[in-house]
Amino acid sequence: MNLSVIGSGYVGLITAAGFAEKGHAVICVDIVKEKVDAINNRKAPIYEKGLDEILQKEVGRNLRASMDLKHAVLNSEITFICVGTPSLASGAIDLSYIKESARQIAEILKGKKSFHVVVVKSTVIPGTTGDVVTPLIEKTSGKKAGVDFGIAMNPEFLREGLAVEDFRKPDRIVIGNSDARTMEVLEKLYSDFNSPVVKTDIKTAEMIKYASNAFLAAKISFINEIGNICKKLGIDVYKVSEGMGLDHRIGPHFLRAGPGFGGSCFPKDVKSLIHQSKEVGVNPLILEAVMEVNKKQPLRVIDLAKRKTGSLKGKRVAVLGLAFKGDTDDMRESPAIVIVNALLKEKAIVVAYDPKAMDNARKIYSSKITYAKTSQECLKNADIALIATEWKEFKNLDLSAMKNKTVIDARRMLLHHNQTPGVDYEGLCW
Ligand code: NAD
Repeated sequence: MNLSVIGSGYVGLITAAGFAEKGHAVICVDIVKEKVDAINNRKAPIYEKGLDEILQKEVGRNLRASMDLKHAVLNSEITFICVGTPSLASGAIDLSYIKESARQIAEILKGKKSFHVVVVKSTVIPGTTGDVVTPLIEKTSGKKAGVDFGIAMNPEFLREGLAVEDFRKPDRIVIGNSDARTMEVLEKLYSDFNSPVVKTDIKTAEMIKYASNAFLAAKISFINEIGNICKKLGIDVYKVSEGMGLDHRIGPHFLRAGPGFGGSCFPKDVKSLIHQSKEVGVNPLILEAVMEVNKKQPLRVIDLAKRKTGSLKGKRVAVLGLAFKGDTDDMRESPAIVIVNALLKEKAIVVAYDPKAMDNARKIYSSKITYAKTSQECLKNADIALIATEWKEFKNLDLSAMKNKTVIDARRMLLHHNQTPGVDYEGLCW
């Protein structure tokens, strides 16, 4: 099939590359020229395992990137909207990118004779596709949904760091739709995936995404709270997680106590759901607690550090890991940002290192912190080291160059140093 994808970020580019790999002809569109050029040069503008290999194979064959939306829409049967949906200061979802994309597609659909399917893949609050996107396209294009064009909501569940794998083998495919013709088109598109397909109405599809993310975020805040209690009681929370996770009703995932969740999805999605919940008159007690625990959790790293060193003023603090989790360069809403900001407030000297996120860190901190080229350089003469991201390479850190071998480990990377003579090791929740 011929597909166009609007927005070539984490979701858009993975979707485009994944469908190209399955033999569809895909044009991915973005407004940022550097991203488009990078993709056409077979180099992903983001770090995602396996993505460069697909680009090397498919660009020039089934995939190309473009800034020409009109050409992309006119030469495709299905358009996926994959632009960002950040949250506003109020916590409400910012739909400006979605609306702009819908308006642009509608302008092009005015002149298109054949049936075209528009799929919202971005995470949007329940009601958005039906009450905002559809009327906008109908009004601008003068066409009728379900008759001249199809509309569907197909939420994305990929995990950054494992996004290629998740595209190839999703746990489930959710298709929200209200007309049979559009459903048929999407069923055909997804026919060679070996995953359960949940077919539902559009609003339910939107809510499945929010409920999933809110549940996973809740699991993280839950185990972090249990971890904080365990720490006080001298109990290893990871043993508790192991014991809990073997219960098939609970499952082993998302039970790794640490500095809290971050990334481009959980924080903003839980905030948007809280906002919508209040708008419809439901007091979101659990969701608010999830955010409250998460806000405080990274600051526990600072409390522990201060307990070890006293004032952090003028102390050289090595921060290892800046990305919101391992295997990604994404620093959006990373707990490491909360940690570094708190260190700067305490007037500590911050030296940071991350295997993939250094370019993103420079955009945030400019010259406020020192950037190390290696973990070894980061640790040199440090008074204390804080482990903020679970990069595998941190398991083998050589602490010998530190001034004081004091480590606060928020990710359980250096547990083996728990008993090492000369190392003052402290786990966040264990
Ligand atoms: P992103 O910021 O990485 O990518 C969005 C892209 O859209 C950017 O490259 C931007 O330049 C481009 N863009 C904006 N307006 C455009 C326009 N009018 N035309 C063409 N391109 C335009 O965002 P993302 O992380 O890929 O997330 C996209 C959506 O998917 C969000 O709603 C997010 O909540 C959801 N989502 C993200 C993930 C994830 O892990 N990142 C997972 C599931 C769902």
